[in-house]
Amino acid sequence: MALAAAATVTGLRLAPLSIPASYILRTCTSHALLAAPVSFSRPRRSGCDAVVRCGKRTGKRRYPSEKKRLERRHKELLHQAAPEEGSPDRESGYWRLSKLAVPASDDPGKDFTGVSPALLQAIAKAIKFPVASMLPEEAFSVIRKSFDARKVLKAAQFIYTVDMDVKKLLDMEPRTWDFIARLEPKLGVIEYMPDEKLVNDLISILSVNKNGSDDEVEIRDTINNGSIHSEPKKPRVAVIGSGPSGLFASLVLGELGAEVTLLERGQAVEQRGRDIGALAVRRILQSESNFCFGEVLLESMYLCSVFLLQVTIRFNTRVDDLIVEDGQVKGIVVSDTKLHPGSVNQKLPFDAVVLAVGHSARDTYSMLCKHNVDLSPKSFAVGLRIEHPQELINSIQYSELAAEVQKGRGRIPVADYKIVKSVGEGDAENNVNATEHSRGCYSFCMCPGGQVVLTSTNPSELCINGMSFSRRASKWANSALVVTVSSHDFGLFQSHGPLAGVEFQREYERRAAAMGGGNFVVPAQCVTDFISNKLSVTTLPPSSYRLGVRPSKLHELFPPYITEALQQSIIMIEKEMPGFVSKEALLHGVETRTSSPLQISRDGETYESTSLQGLYPIGEGAGYAGGILSAAVDGMYCGFALAKQLSLFHGDIESFLGKAQKQTSFVKY
Ligand SMILES: Cc1cc2nc3c(=O)[nH]c(=O)nc-3n(C[C@H](O)[C@H](O)[C@H](O)COP(=O)(O)OP(=O)(O)OC[C@H]3O[C@@H](n4cnc5c(N)ncnc54)[C@H](O)[C@@H]3O)c2cc1C
Repeated sequence: MALAAAATVTGLRLAPLSIPASYILRTCTSHALLAAPVSFSRPRRSGCDAVVRCGKRTGKRRYPSEKKRLERRHKELLHQAAPEEGSPDRESGYWRLSKLAVPASDDPGKDFTGVSPALLQAIAKAIKFPVASMLPEEAFSVIRKSFDARKVLKAAQFIYTVDMDVKKLLDMEPRTWDFIARLEPKLGVIEYMPDEKLVNDLISILSVNKNGSDDEVEIRDTINNGSIHSEPKKPRVAVIGSGPSGLFASLVLGELGAEVTLLERGQAVEQRGRDIGALAVRRILQSESNFCFGEVLLESMYLCSVFLLQVTIRFNTRVDDLIVEDGQVKGIVVSDTKLHPGSVNQKLPFDAVVLAVGHSARDTYSMLCKHNVDLSPKSFAVGLRIEHPQELINSIQYSELAAEVQKGRGRIPVADYKIVKSVGEGDAENNVNATEHSRGCYSFCMCPGGQVVLTSTNPSELCINGMSFSRRASKWANSALVVTVSSHDFGLFQSHGPLAGVEFQREYERRAAAMGGGNFVVPAQCVTDFISNKLSVTTLPPSSYRLGVRPSKLHELFPPYITEALQQSIIMIEKEMPGFVSKEALLHGVETRTSSPLQISRDGETYESTSLQGLYPIGEGAGYAGGILSAAVDGMYCGFALAKQLSLFHGDIESFLGKAQKQTSFVKY
């Protein structure tokens, strides 16, 4: 049975449409639906008629903003991706169900990643299936689970993303077919994925795209047992730095057929762990193996696959210079960081050099200046790290639920927070310069159940950061509170040209080292004193920082515009999080390396430096990333872009990776 309907849009009359019978059933109660024999009976091989939904068109929609246009495009794509309602193609594939909310009181807790009865309830609601207990757990897998305890909610809840395996679901509970058949895609909430999408990860993309590329590369002759063989010549690429950006660039380039050498000034992860231990316990700072330099455990997972590719990895190898001929990079000069300074350098020829050195390679920045590489100062943020007892943050954020945190062993996750404030805005309507005088102040790298750590790379400069172990079991919660600074704040350091921001950082790191009194002791001040511009206590509350804290006038460390912005924002935070300003809250100085203080100009398509051919600046150090994920993604895109230039890859990167985000240097992780 079909109904004829006329859909009308302002100014536009659509042809009558036929609506499938099952649509009428939508008005029935859900229990009636289960019993209804007429709707979408399986197997059904003929397609059903197209369905068009029409919204009232308003003036605004006739001239939609870019955002709305994109949203609409996404929705169209979403509908195109899902097989038509009722079509047999819906009998397989996966539906990703997101934003499934389960009340915290009904959930087994943060460590449970199975499918609980409460989650089945949420799934049933999403797919409009009336009897949750009939849904087989085996058809669902949890992809993501997070906790939402915002005060605007009536009660705290866990939020799930779940993949629904349609074939399994229909095999185990055929009565779900009606509901799958008419499931309507919704952007970011209910999305269809055909089977192939699941294996469409980076490695599969690479293996598909590298096929057929070998015949395009140059041929070189090699001599083997006296006879001459012709082999495709692999372009040689140096990747400097084994952080996430360097690793992902190496992975892509290696998979696509380049001969990659990955050079890392620091130690491999095992020795780096020992060096960091010696720093935390015996105050021994290794200038080449510390919190900023060297391989990290998380990254070594990726290294495993890069080993598989026979990418040559050289630890303890610092790149000191570039070999430049006729405006093009032809190679690099390296030294062994375990040997004494001044020991013999080695020259290595390469066809291209990927620069993935992170934000603390100040010597590398100076070397780039020597070669007149285009660098420009970039905004970043500086400030102090605040630490509270974790139990205090739990109770501010969760109220009575805080009792269930139990140092990371309980049902409820250890509480964190994320704060963004804008201070000094004034009256924007009457003051045209208001935005010029306002400053962003935000929490950065909040570490629940964590500790404050030393991230200096030089003993005369002191800077800190924070970290948590996976259990988040420590007694403390710490987070940086930082204020945005930009090139017009670096006026005093203009003589350093593009390195003005680096010198700005260095200045406050030196001041902090002096305030702490040396030996990596950190200057610290109670937050109550900091906001009152005084130092009243000589005995500070305990701190997680292991090398010692010294009572100091942190309110005198930074220029007034930074101190005042921090003070104002702390007072604003107290209004939202009563208890944040407390005698137990301790500020530590200084947090300066939130992101790179400069940007190395590069071409948006090729990723090549705009001033030096053959150089590919990527990741956080080049000013194109601000965290592990954005650095890895930048490395991946650069890998494809460079492979394209080396004729190792011929596809359209964005067609399968999506459009590259160009503004990721200020990500607040
Ligand atoms: C304590 C701490 C905690 C952090 N926590 C988080 C977090 O929770 N989440 C998050 O997203 N981010 C976090 N970050 C930031 C994150 O680590 C960086 O954003 C990210 O690693 C940047 O990646 P990258 O590849 O651009 O550079 P990096 O990871 O910095 O890697 C650069 C590499 O290049 C090497 N190198 C530098 N110069 C040379 C040279 N001349 N020759 C050879 N090798 C060289 C360095 O030794 C280094 O290993 C944290 C950082 C620190 C210090």
